[in-house]
Amino acid sequence: MMVNVQEICENMRVAREMVLTSQYETGAVYYQGVVQQIHRLLQTIQEPNRKIKWQQVQQQVAAEYENLKELTNTIAMFKADTTSSPAFNDRPLATMRISSFEEPTRDPDVWAPPPPRDPDVWPPPTPADHRSSQVKPTRGPRRQEASKSTTASRGGGSKAGAKKGGTDAKGRNKDEKGGKGRKEADKKDDKQGGGAEDNAAGGEEEERKFDPSGYDRDLVDMLERDIVQKNPSIRWTDIADLQEAKRLLEEAVVLPMLMPDFFKGIRRPWKGVLMVGPPGTGKTMLAKAVATECKTTFFNVSSSTLTSKYRGESEKLVRLLFEMARFYAPSTIFVDEIDSLCSRRGSESEHEASRRVKSELLMQMDGIQASDSDEPKVVMVLAATNFPWDIDEALRRRLEKRIYIPLPNEEGREALLNINLREVKLDSDINLAQIATMLAGYSGADITNVCRDASMMSMRRKIAGLTPDEIRALPKEELDLPVTQGDFHAAIAKCNKSVSQQDLDKYETWMREFGST
Ligand code: ADP
Repeated sequence: MMVNVQEICENMRVAREMVLTSQYETGAVYYQGVVQQIHRLLQTIQEPNRKIKWQQVQQQVAAEYENLKELTNTIAMFKADTTSSPAFNDRPLATMRISSFEEPTRDPDVWAPPPPRDPDVWPPPTPADHRSSQVKPTRGPRRQEASKSTTASRGGGSKAGAKKGGTDAKGRNKDEKGGKGRKEADKKDDKQGGGAEDNAAGGEEEERKFDPSGYDRDLVDMLERDIVQKNPSIRWTDIADLQEAKRLLEEAVVLPMLMPDFFKGIRRPWKGVLMVGPPGTGKTMLAKAVATECKTTFFNVSSSTLTSKYRGESEKLVRLLFEMARFYAPSTIFVDEIDSLCSRRGSESEHEASRRVKSELLMQMDGIQASDSDEPKVVMVLAATNFPWDIDEALRRRLEKRIYIPLPNEEGREALLNINLREVKLDSDINLAQIATMLAGYSGADITNVCRDASMMSMRRKIAGLTPDEIRALPKEELDLPVTQGDFHAAIAKCNKSVSQQDLDKYETWMREFGST
């Protein structure tokens, strides 16, 4: 489906109008939609300058959306305060915040969902914590604690864009012991498969932060802030279908992290894994799930970020990226849109800067393995591309495992509908199996869009032609009507599939020649 810029502008206008008229929840749905639309648009843009501009727009929209979420959380907190019992009022403010925290509508691409709330995890996040977490990543107790995070570790609206990790989303899953002793303990813990949990349960949390001395401090800060994502909070179960891809990733990435001793010699882990497939099929989600499921520090970097934003600094950035990944090991480095970094050697689009970045990346990937022999530091490179044919041979060789992420099949489409509609009221006559059949050829992202569109149909009908004051006066129940089969028919008629048969043939041909699954 072509993303229509006019539609983005219109949705943005409505999003802001909703917020200005205090319709915060509706505004949030529009904001989510806009971030998603821009994300999709970005995937279709090849021209670097245009891409940078849209990335900036996306970051601004994501920042506005983040403000809106903070606002709704604050309002929810006040509501909880006023409606609470006297006993409740005796509780610490922080508890009230947790109990009143409400995530608006869920969209894993835009913001990761909040992990299960656990009142035992203290302290809860405060705005100050959010800020400090951006520059002070810490290591939390391993495994258990990571999944206990109270804060939604919300990934940024853009894949490599503004991220805002919560205090508890430390995602570093190792018990902190400091220095070499800690390393030894970590290794032991790894062998024992998470034995540090017990230590973590009662232990004091200490911080372990990458020492920036000897490096460009700004770059270190930028990496910590924008690229390290402590806990992406996407689980295998959040991803519909793709069983084969999940199995392959488990074998290629997760198991070597869990059993580093086994994956040695001939069984050494793959240097890198490349996920190939049409846009919007869940590649980024899979990468995040890998990081969540095997509790690794997740470095989420898009190639266009590397080559455009930090021009001149880019090789340094790549070096530092791997340096930090080793420090925070086990780590997963996810390089999205790797094709834009690695357009074929000598081709016109290969800038000098991207050529140097690419060489650095190749060297670092080779280095991962070299360092494996003396001191195991599990760093996996996971890359994704919608344009595998643009990747040159040198990089392709390093991305030894190349797996195809296909469009969802019938069963997958129905699962996607269920995932997308978990929080939406459905009409009793709705037939999701029939809708799944109608959606043949749609990608996961297309289906998310159809669901979003269908779920907003009744609201659109309600507010059509009304003034902002009239909209404000509408009771919430009148807007939140069940989604009907007809809404889906209308949404499907509006949203076309984004992947053509010709594209699919191209992927198949490439996979036949270069795939390795
Ligand atoms: P890609 O990286 O392949 O372009 P993403 O992982 O960014 O795709 O997916 C984009 C959006 O599409 C996700 O945020 C999600 O809403 C939806 N989506 C795609 N595939 C799936 C899936 N298998 N399960 C659940 N959601 C999916």
